[in-house]
Amino acid sequence: MTPVFDDPRLRAIAEKVTAGVRLDFNDGVTLFRSPDILGVGWMANQVRERLHGDKTYFNVNRHINPTDVCVASCRLCAFGKRAKDPTAYTMSLEQVWERASHGVSEAVTEFHIVGGLHPELTLDWYCQMLRGLKERYPQVHLKAFTMVEIGFLANRAKLSVRETLEKLRDAGMDSMPGGGAEIFSERVRRIICDHKITGDQWLDVARTAHQMGLHSNCTMLYGHIETEEDRVDHLMKLRSLQDETQGFVTFIPLAFHPENTPLEHIPKTTGFDDIREIAVSRLMLDNIPHIKAYWIMMTPRIAQIAQRFGADDIDGTVIEEKIYHDAGATTSQNLRRGELLRLIREAGREPVERDTLYRPVERSENVFTVLV
Ligand code: SF4
Repeated sequence: MTPVFDDPRLRAIAEKVTAGVRLDFNDGVTLFRSPDILGVGWMANQVRERLHGDKTYFNVNRHINPTDVCVASCRLCAFGKRAKDPTAYTMSLEQVWERASHGVSEAVTEFHIVGGLHPELTLDWYCQMLRGLKERYPQVHLKAFTMVEIGFLANRAKLSVRETLEKLRDAGMDSMPGGGAEIFSERVRRIICDHKITGDQWLDVARTAHQMGLHSNCTMLYGHIETEEDRVDHLMKLRSLQDETQGFVTFIPLAFHPENTPLEHIPKTTGFDDIREIAVSRLMLDNIPHIKAYWIMMTPRIAQIAQRFGADDIDGTVIEEKIYHDAGATTSQNLRRGELLRLIREAGREPVERDTLYRPVERSENVFTVLV
């Protein structure tokens, strides 16, 4: 039964959603501008339940950030540091392999590996890193490198993106996390991340990876200087590439954290904005299977509520997140499995542990007594 919307502009959009008709640019802008969060959320929840029923997915993963040294100086970033910065770090290969073991038990199914654009680490170094991880943890899926890192490594190695991806895949890279997309609007990128690859280049790297059979996630950084139109344009570009490749698995909206960045004057996103971002993403991205409420950025509280506003995934146990904590995220650096289960069950959803590609993971409960 269709509800009575506070915002009458939502009625026509609801008819399209119910009939499974694709939403257009103007619909997206209307949704982002509507204060009727319950109306927008009701529609997103319809789509979420049509696709996934009551299931909410999570995984048991570990983040590894091999270096925070970065040649780019994106104004949005609190993580990247210059090589000469005394607080910068770069792990040795042995340290990466050793770090991977911290808090890891046979329960971890994924290493999520991203870092800065280091001026000296070579493509070969990264291939050795992957091979070493695969040798030590053959059962763990390696979800590694943003499209930005791939573009940078290709340039440094003087190889094409495809050749670079082939080398990384042969060394053990299983899929890619989809970060670094920020906002595709070149006007905004010039201000927040003018040292990065362009939006079109980001999409080209993703296209090449997908054409090679690699899956990736995709992201959008919101809550800085972008407009509602920029957000819709970003979502539609992802949707259009997905029509072409079907390579995106999950969309992850990332709330901008301004602390310790040159954009510190920008206020943090509100819960209202975070929830609406999830809901509008679910409605616009009709061809991307999963929408993730990333609790590290949104807080576990908002991620929990998001399960009723379009999200079907709340990420994982994480273990040691650095990038958003450097930017002031006050969330914990990991969540125990039991806490994730509670967040999901309290929202009336059914928890499903997944691997990176959303295959269900069967467990006996005692596996988790050894987790940190
Ligand atoms: S956002 Fe990425 S590319 Fe930009 S400075 Fe930070 S680590 Fe470097």
